[in-house]
Amino acid sequence: LFARESEFVKGVVAMSGLPDADRIEVCFAGRSNVGKSSLINALTGTKGLARASNTPGRTQEINYFTQGPDLYLVDLPGYGYANAPLAVVEKWQRLLKQYLSGRQTLRRAFVLIDSRHGVKKVDEEIMKLLDSSAVTFQCVMTKADKVKAAERQKVIDQVRAALSKHPAAYPEIVLTSSEKGDGVATLRAIINGLREE
Ligand code: GDP
Repeated sequence: LFARESEFVKGVVAMSGLPDADRIEVCFAGRSNVGKSSLINALTGTKGLARASNTPGRTQEINYFTQGPDLYLVDLPGYGYANAPLAVVEKWQRLLKQYLSGRQTLRRAFVLIDSRHGVKKVDEEIMKLLDSSAVTFQCVMTKADKVKAAERQKVIDQVRAALSKHPAAYPEIVLTSSEKGDGVATLRAIINGLREE
């Protein structure tokens, strides 16, 4: 079962700052403003736990949260800022590469995709990195309440086509709305399934 309480552990800016790899973890990646903080808060039922990635000072940190005693939820920095300086982007990419290829206890990455926008170039780049790091990833569509069913289906088809090119992609796409609560229980069940492995 999803434990009731999640707590913030720490923000990490370098591999040396990662908590001990004493339990499994899943991570969440996505373009800034995709709804990542809202989804983590909905998943954990802890309002204000994850803060929007545009919160000054926390943009470049990998944030760790507990989920019971046996699992970490890992909030990766949002990517694809229009105005991010190159040096910042490069530093972030370096840390992300090190994290994805070096974290033994990482069981799955959830790549969040806005239901209105589909897979963008920066998302493709993350997916390639996940392929080369051999980290299984699963797409989670966010803000499903913002699009009508017909349009949503078009975007899902685009996402499915994009996933077919990535060997590390898990085929099932999860549709969510943090606003309405849709898909949140499904995502919890998926994470719980990894926990029992
Ligand atoms: P982050 O930058 O990826 O952490 O994104 P946030 O979680 O801060 O969300 C960005 C914006 O999208 C905020 O204004 C949220 O209120 C809004 N948002 C997030 N999830 C949903 C959702 O499921 N439905 C709707 N309608 N809006 C959402």
